[in-house]
Amino acid sequence: MLDIAIVGGGAAGYFAAIQAALKQPGLQIAILERGTLGLDKVRVSGGGRCNVTHHALDPKHLSTHYPRGEKALLGPFHHYGPAEVIAFFEQQGVPLKIESDGRMFPVANSSEAIINCFVRLRESLGISLFDKCALKALAQNSDGSWLLHTANQEISAKKILLATGSNSKIFSMLSSLGHEMVPAVPSLFTFHISDPRLEGLAGLSTPALVRLRLPGEAAKKSLLTSGALLITHWGLSGPAILKLSAWGARVLAEAHYDFNIEINFLPQYSPTSILEQLFVHKKKQAKKKIYSSYDFELPKRLWQRLVAFSGISEDVEWANITKDQLAALGKQLTQASLAVTGKSTFKEEFVTAGGVSLKEVSFKDLQSKLFPGLYFAGEILNIDAITGGFNFQSAWTTGFLAAQGMVNALDK
Ligand SMILES: Cc1cc2nc3c(=O)[nH]c(=O)nc-3n(C[C@H](O)[C@H](O)[C@H](O)COP(=O)(O)OP(=O)(O)OC[C@H]3O[C@@H](n4cnc5c(N)ncnc54)[C@H](O)[C@@H]3O)c2cc1C
Repeated sequence: MLDIAIVGGGAAGYFAAIQAALKQPGLQIAILERGTLGLDKVRVSGGGRCNVTHHALDPKHLSTHYPRGEKALLGPFHHYGPAEVIAFFEQQGVPLKIESDGRMFPVANSSEAIINCFVRLRESLGISLFDKCALKALAQNSDGSWLLHTANQEISAKKILLATGSNSKIFSMLSSLGHEMVPAVPSLFTFHISDPRLEGLAGLSTPALVRLRLPGEAAKKSLLTSGALLITHWGLSGPAILKLSAWGARVLAEAHYDFNIEINFLPQYSPTSILEQLFVHKKKQAKKKIYSSYDFELPKRLWQRLVAFSGISEDVEWANITKDQLAALGKQLTQASLAVTGKSTFKEEFVTAGGVSLKEVSFKDLQSKLFPGLYFAGEILNIDAITGGFNFQSAWTTGFLAAQGMVNALDK
């Protein structure tokens, strides 16, 4: 009988297996992976560079990057956060570097550095890897140990960790065991928008505030994000949009990805203060053309598009702008409403919102509150984050705490 069976050889599964073996050498630990080596997402992550974590060392601040899991992760981040992850990889000869926006990557700039580190540790610590070994069903024996039915064998283990990511079959299996599973919906996606204001402007980027506008009851869940906005061939992307897609993952799915957003292209101005500023322009630049003369931090082609959309023709001078045109321009600059009609994945990067309901998991050791001896780590939990290394951080943190919990429980 295994001491610990870890189902799923992804980031969370490997990390937990390694941490358990480091804590107590000599334990019989195996990773059961439905593929061959596992670690597929680690390999392609961060465009092949693996954005391992984020340099956000204050647990409270770090937890605000998790639309799902913010409260639950606060305690765990105090025990094992980015500082511990950085130290772990450093000790293993894989130093990390910080980029200007806080994202952290291996100095080697390659996800292979992480994979090689995990494979080397798995081998040197004597952790078995059962490949092509998909878990099909599981049952708890009367002595509290577990029987795992896999595609090719039956395995017994004293403790089991499920780290299968967002695998729908495992979601159904857990649901039939009695665990509450929050249905899976995509998070981190870009918006499809077909609008004359954006046509031909693909590639332009500008800081903005983006507000979600939902009809009826859902309007109460109105969300606001800030950050760079990137105009694409199909609509909008960039940090402001990705954040909105993550925070709004569930309400947007309910709206069938058919909703409106309101953009403030000049975040330093409100709908009221922009009018005052436009009046200043009118006086100061009276003889100049609105189309080509403006003082705002806005790409010129976008400015001209918004001017045209406000019903102002190319040759109008600031002195001749009417009150209505001025109001229309102010609205386009700070409250432009655009209709979103669908979504696309972001550079093939996506995470899934949904999974094991957090109220049924103890965040001291990531143990199921329903089944002693059953643990969870990584994306199988109803936890997900915005981009920036936060998703892996939650896999490392939950993997670490689950490993400590399982080893401690074996000792009892
Ligand atoms: C393209 C892409 C790029 C990304 N880049 C980043 C990034 O740079 N930084 C970041 O923080 N996050 C990134 N993410 C998100 C991050 O990859 C995930 O949050 C993370 O991999 C989750 O780890 P996990 O171990 O929980 O699940 P997974 O990585 O999904 O691993 C689950 C493992 O379980 C196995 N498995 C599933 N079902 C079974 C079964 N029944 N039996 C046995 N094994 C099973 C799977 O084969 C897989 O190996 C990226 C995601 C994608 C898709």
